[in-house]
Amino acid sequence: MSERATGFFEQVAEAFDRAAAFTSYDAHLLEQIKRVNAVYRMAFPVLRDDGSIVVIDAWRAEHSFHRLPTKGGIRYSMLVDEDEVAALAALMTFKCAIVDVPFGGAKGGVRIDPREFSEAELERITRRYTAELMRKSFIGPGTDVPAPDYGTGQREMMWIADTYMALSHSELEALACVTGKPVGQGGIRGRTEATGLGLMFGLQEACSHAADMKQLGLATGLEGKRFVVQGLGNVGSHAARYLEEEGAVLVGVAEREGSISAPSGLRVADLLAHRAQTGSILGFPDATDLPDRASALELDCDVLVPAALEKQIHEGNAPRIKARIVAEGANGPTTAAADRILRAAGALVVPDVFLNAGGVTVSYFEWLKNLQHVRFGRMERLFDQRARGGLLQLLSESTGRDLSERERSRLARGADEADLVRSGLEETMTLAYREIREKRLELGVEADLRIAAMVVAIDKVASDYQLRGLFP
Ligand code: NAD
Repeated sequence: MSERATGFFEQVAEAFDRAAAFTSYDAHLLEQIKRVNAVYRMAFPVLRDDGSIVVIDAWRAEHSFHRLPTKGGIRYSMLVDEDEVAALAALMTFKCAIVDVPFGGAKGGVRIDPREFSEAELERITRRYTAELMRKSFIGPGTDVPAPDYGTGQREMMWIADTYMALSHSELEALACVTGKPVGQGGIRGRTEATGLGLMFGLQEACSHAADMKQLGLATGLEGKRFVVQGLGNVGSHAARYLEEEGAVLVGVAEREGSISAPSGLRVADLLAHRAQTGSILGFPDATDLPDRASALELDCDVLVPAALEKQIHEGNAPRIKARIVAEGANGPTTAAADRILRAAGALVVPDVFLNAGGVTVSYFEWLKNLQHVRFGRMERLFDQRARGGLLQLLSESTGRDLSERERSRLARGADEADLVRSGLEETMTLAYREIREKRLELGVEADLRIAAMVVAIDKVASDYQLRGLFP
């Protein structure tokens, strides 16, 4: 079997096994942590606008019940199958453990190409999928909480929440049955951009360690780093925007329709505007079109951000990847064989299980907000602002230094929901990276960041099982 045909779950399991070899846990405990705890496979009919009926295949995999609820996105794609949702659910378990989000992992998938359905049809599919999940208790604020993923967004999450609320007999916590909702419908500020922003914070921390950067032949910091993005969707476009804000330079993009190169850099907002207007990244005035959609992955750059789909960096193209850092925005973008090739070439792979955890982190904040029925900052923002204003007044009276209105409002401002989400996300990504990096140093030369991240995750999940007394 060719390396690209290897199952996605097998790819995750291989990374798990490599990490498990660094631990001394009981083999049965490791087996339990690796295996998918439950999978619900369904097929349901949906009425199309022209009166015909189509039968849709869909799945929900709950990988680990060591903590509840389980949590993970829902993907709409023709590539969805049981292997894919199982692998993505497993990654969610490890991801949540790494960033200390108290959930087990899950993932859902509906095998459709959303572009082939009207909005009304997509709404019927989403609502029926939700009803099916409810039938088997595969959704609920304390059991399993979906979120957006490839091919879904706020709109689908709103349909899910509405269907759940309509069928759940005025359950008080019903709104917490799904995250990634629009802000006006129980969502939280900052969720949409959270994965891209979290990627920037994670990469910023990775690039702040002088010794690591020296080994790669790079300067510290994001400033001036030349990066390429694959997939300008939710994760990729926000990551590009935030990296640019920190001084990094976008020098290439790969999208479904093709890829482009711009060695002296291009402006993210201009490219997004061009794509919105023409439907394509191709023909952008500040860039050159490349022969095919994968070419940009091999461009000369410091950082490659795969943010489209799994298995995009494989043994076929890995030897030609020039980036010194591969920052995994997508889930599973690097196959096990490619990982080995990149490691041998001395590149730093910042793994998906850590780097794209910003989405689930902010989803966790949204879930907390829904459970407590109040917006973060609502109770204390004004109080804090007044208290700080009073302190500043005292300070300026005692020092005789008058603060300008601008200084006063910057220093005294109370934190609102967006501020708290942003700082909570930065703290989470920064601390998690430091923990993984420390673990890597502790494990020694054989371990890379992916292994270190998996060992951190295994330690945390194993400790939960052991505390319950089920395993030695
Ligand atoms: P999305 O649907 O918003 O964007 C995906 C983008 O990739 C689209 O623009 C699409 O046109 C492009 N694309 C598809 N096939 C491509 C190809 N062969 N080459 C280049 N580009 C291609 O999806 P998303 O939510 O941004 O998710 C992207 C990845 O990030 C997935 O692996 C997903 O599991 C992962 N992820 C997403 C989130 C989230 O919060 N949305 C969180 C964690 C991980």
